[in-house]
Amino acid sequence: MLRWACRRCVVTRTGSTLPAQIWVSLHDNVCLRHNLWVGKNVFAPEQQLDPSRTPDVIRAQRRCWRLRRRYGPILIALCYDGTGKLWSGLAHRDYQLVHRA
Ligand SMILES: [Zn+2]
Repeated sequence: MLRWACRRCVVTRTGSTLPAQIWVSLHDNVCLRHNLWVGKNVFAPEQQLDPSRTPDVIRAQRRCWRLRRRYGPILIALCYDGTGKLWSGLAHRDYQLVHRA
């Protein structure tokens, strides 16, 4: 999937402030080096937000990478799609988390 590269990584690696696009996995949503959301719904590098206030997002990215290394990208992609559909279905039925699961 072609996405905007982390704008801080681009500056660090190239010295340029020009935006760059890279091919990444669908599951790479956070640049853990710079704590920037680079995943879904980022349509320009300026839209990359800092998820530091939501540490669960950062932990989820780390866990996803760990699971992908352990079980392989194909199995993780299947699980990712399945859980995405599950949560999407629950959201459409107005299910809300009262306590953190
Ligand atoms: Zn970065």
